[in-house]
Amino acid sequence: MSYVDEVIETIIEQNPGEAEFHQALREVMETIRVVVEENEEEYRKNALLERLANPERQIKFRVPWVDDNGQVQVNTGYRVQFNSAIGPYKGGLRFHPSVNIGIIKFLGFEQIFKNSLTGLPIGGGKGGSNFDPKGKSDREVMAFCQSFMTELYRHIGADTDVPAGDIGVGAREVGFLFGQYKRLSNSYEGVLTGKGLTFGGSLARTEATGYGLLYFTNAMLKANDIDIAGKTIAVSGAGNVAIYAIEKAQQLGGKPVTCSDSTGWIYDPEGIDVALLKEVKEVKRERLTAYAEARESAEYHEGKGVWTVKCDIALPCATQNELLLEDAKTLVANGVLAVAEGANMPTTIEATEYLQENNVLFAPGKASNAGGVATSALEMAQNSQRLSWTFEEVDLKLKNIMENIFANVAAAASEYDMDKNYVAGANIAGFKKVVEAMNAQGIV
Ligand code: NDP
Repeated sequence: MSYVDEVIETIIEQNPGEAEFHQALREVMETIRVVVEENEEEYRKNALLERLANPERQIKFRVPWVDDNGQVQVNTGYRVQFNSAIGPYKGGLRFHPSVNIGIIKFLGFEQIFKNSLTGLPIGGGKGGSNFDPKGKSDREVMAFCQSFMTELYRHIGADTDVPAGDIGVGAREVGFLFGQYKRLSNSYEGVLTGKGLTFGGSLARTEATGYGLLYFTNAMLKANDIDIAGKTIAVSGAGNVAIYAIEKAQQLGGKPVTCSDSTGWIYDPEGIDVALLKEVKEVKRERLTAYAEARESAEYHEGKGVWTVKCDIALPCATQNELLLEDAKTLVANGVLAVAEGANMPTTIEATEYLQENNVLFAPGKASNAGGVATSALEMAQNSQRLSWTFEEVDLKLKNIMENIFANVAAAASEYDMDKNYVAGANIAGFKKVVEAMNAQGIV
């Protein structure tokens, strides 16, 4: 059996019940096979793939807190410190009822390669909890965040592990987490990114993942002689990534016509009104029905459905496994030209393969959504220097980083005769750098 197959089998057997991690593992291993097989015995002797697929450290803890009725609630917290070969662990925290160790490990594993692709010195990690901030009062969210940090603080630090936001963790949560870290550690340091602008946050961090997605997508379209101007764009999600993807898509002349949340979706043939969407989601924290009520051109539909809208470009920006094979078939039948992932692993392996087989340009999240973590690394740099850069400076750096990522991903795909296979290109380019650093650092 080949070394790659052996490792896939062993890791899955040793980590039962972690479906999302298995999916991410398979996707990466299948595409780096060509690199490993150039020098299989060396990789096997050094157990490089086993070391890569086993987190350096995995922390699981109890998070007790008191709700507004005086009832004690208990959630589970996680931090997976996956790989520190190229820098301190870096990756977001997700607060969502679906969170379990398999989801955190899939996100942490992907983060290793994503962070490597940014060209910045950051390792891979991820964390979170099965806590659901939805419907909770600000006081309850604060109580939870303080309890979560009361355990997490001993495992993180500006040069050790620097968490950020993800699903369910935005500016409010990062603020509460930072306050408790500072209080417990008696140190004012850049231990979290995505902070508020008055206490060390970076301009353009809020916009970074969505804007970065569009910078990457535009570079990919240009390389394939497609102009984004005038293109109809279907977007899923209505959170941080989706909102700023829609905003930048409009600035580039595209026309986003959909967005969604976990209960329903909007079709707005006149184009999404971003100011209204921000008001509904960022200020009032309401459902999308409020958007439809305020805008005559918008239709609201219950459930899932954005991929049924005819579009040229699809941007899944909500969550993992939200674009399935049947959705890919509908998109292809409707003439889609490109799919670029804003979320992490939103497209299943079968759907990705179907899109690629049908010559749809496909941008994998670990490359196309790397703008968030890249700008987090820029926030770390500003914190270390005790300086703040302007919005334009950060945005320009972000744009350059995303265009470089595209160029490196495309070059890696071509080097292995897989022209335009950006999934393979991203995995190979990210993998090679991490493995070189691991090799140089000996058996650790
Ligand atoms: P938010 O919490 O801001 O928004 C998530 C959006 O997706 C919401 O509209 C939410 O709807 C919807 N959603 C979440 N879970 C589900 C579900 N199970 N089914 C249907 N809809 C769902 O998160 P972000 O925008 O920050 O993150 C979105 C994706 O992007 C995630 O995959 C995340 O890992 C990835 N990502 C985020 C980065 C960042 O900088 N924020 C960086 C790189 C990747 P509702 O509000 O109803 O739950």
